[in-house]
Amino acid sequence: MVTRRLEAGADARQQSTVENALESICEELIAGKDAQTVITAWRSVLTTDSVQLWLVTPDLTAVVSGGPPLPAEFTIRSVIRSAASSDYSLRQIRLGDQKEDFLAVARTVKPKPQSERVLILVSLTPKSAAHQGIALVKSAATRSAVFTWMIGILCMAFVAAGIVGPLQTMSINLHQSIDRNRREDMLLTISDRHDELGEVANSLHDLEEERQDQISRLQNTERMARSSADLLTTVLDSMVEGVIAIDLDQRIVFLNTGARNLLGISEAIGVGHRLYEAVRVPAFLETISEAISLRQNQSLEYRTSREKADLVLVAIPILRGPHAGAVAVVRDISEMRRLEAMRRDFVSGVSHELKTPLTVIQACTDTLLGGALDDRSAAERFLRQIDEQSERLLQLILSMLQLARVESGQQVLHIEEVEVRAIVDDVLRGFQTVAASKSVSLLQTGAPELIVRADAQALQTILSNLVDNALKHTNAGGTVVIELSEQTTGPAIVVRDTGIGIPEELLGRIFERFYRVEKDRSRERGGSGLGLAIVKHLCHAIGAEISVKSEVGLGSEFRVEFRP
Ligand code: ADP
Repeated sequence: MVTRRLEAGADARQQSTVENALESICEELIAGKDAQTVITAWRSVLTTDSVQLWLVTPDLTAVVSGGPPLPAEFTIRSVIRSAASSDYSLRQIRLGDQKEDFLAVARTVKPKPQSERVLILVSLTPKSAAHQGIALVKSAATRSAVFTWMIGILCMAFVAAGIVGPLQTMSINLHQSIDRNRREDMLLTISDRHDELGEVANSLHDLEEERQDQISRLQNTERMARSSADLLTTVLDSMVEGVIAIDLDQRIVFLNTGARNLLGISEAIGVGHRLYEAVRVPAFLETISEAISLRQNQSLEYRTSREKADLVLVAIPILRGPHAGAVAVVRDISEMRRLEAMRRDFVSGVSHELKTPLTVIQACTDTLLGGALDDRSAAERFLRQIDEQSERLLQLILSMLQLARVESGQQVLHIEEVEVRAIVDDVLRGFQTVAASKSVSLLQTGAPELIVRADAQALQTILSNLVDNALKHTNAGGTVVIELSEQTTGPAIVVRDTGIGIPEELLGRIFERFYRVEKDRSRERGGSGLGLAIVKHLCHAIGAEISVKSEVGLGSEFRVEFRP
């Protein structure tokens, strides 16, 4: 910057030297001095400043000879032409192949007073002539700058050795020491210094303490947040209900295990996926969209096509906040629906079973009251029917009560080692008369000694119901056998008959309440439709398995198996 200013000053001085010289020459020429003499004299004066002089006519013919010829470059000629038209011209030009710039100054002059002849005084001065001294200044300035720089580096090295060095070590240690105590020890050591570095170390030590406090506070908060999030996820994952949270773009932001199980969502689908990728039930997606758009809870009950499960969806919109969107809660209500259906079937079954005997009783009493009471034999017949139907009603109600007790687990059972033979003998005794009246042989075969773990009363009911059924569905000449055996899988009691049999496709249904294969005939035979339901529940209660095999026209076989 200094050399540039010096160069600008030198340029100005050079220009004014040239201009002053030209002014003086003009004055001498105007005063009528000989041009040759004036120019020669000034040439020698101006040589020291490297200024060259020419006096030419506007057509560039030299007026004064003896000096070097005027360069014929276009740049010079344009300076002269410009001076001819405006009396004065000054330009910085470059000549031919020369590497430096020249200051070209030209001005018109009328050599004698009243002379019409116009001449042009031209000067050419190399710019470098003005800058000669400056080069020295420049090199001196460069040397002093280098010197100053070196001194500066030395000073910096000195300062670095004294302050920056320890500061750097401190900074590196601070960054690298993971151990808080080591960092604090290092800062405490440096803070013993009685200089600025000591103060910095002191402040850093305070900051470090504050930072550690903040870190532990943040860590605590983070730990608490993570533990509440874990707790929430664990609770939600342990729910049977499915929970899916979505944002306003219907992207999944939370999904629990229950939702995966109920909706069959694979592990590949999760947070970040669109809801329609997880659940492909249009009604489900529509319900959630509606909850968001209508800003109110929506619900849907539907049956899954594959698992045939009854699901209920409640979509709850989340209207505001960072988690705006919706939460879908899905519940499996299949069991509830099954129980409802069972209850309905039971009520209609009971009503139906009660209706028939009550209708008969009512008809008999109506007939008796209508005059049949006077006819003793008819009255007896009707009263017997009333008695039979009352007995049937009583049996039905007793069966229902027993089934209810067994189903609800209220029936108290004494599971103990029971000698089956004794119970079988009781049952045979009880049904022998009925069997004889139907001309059906009722007998027992197999192991004479069989011990099972069961409740004696329950086992008697099971066998009575099975034998009762077998006798009811076996025609005259047939046989009903109770077979006792000890299998490798455990003791087994089989009640086999040579009766009418049960179609194979209905075998699964005969244990249902009020189910009868031949509805009217079974009812006629006095069955309540609850016998096998009671057998099934009692077997379950004593830990036995019941199974059935049957062939229409050949007979049936009910097998009760006990654990070994
Ligand atoms: P029920 O009181 O009508 O006999 P159950 O529950 O005991 O009712 O039996 C259900 C149905 O199963 C009967 O109505 C009958 O159609 C059929 N069933 C039961 N045992 C036999 C059997 N040994 N042979 C043929 N059918 C039977």
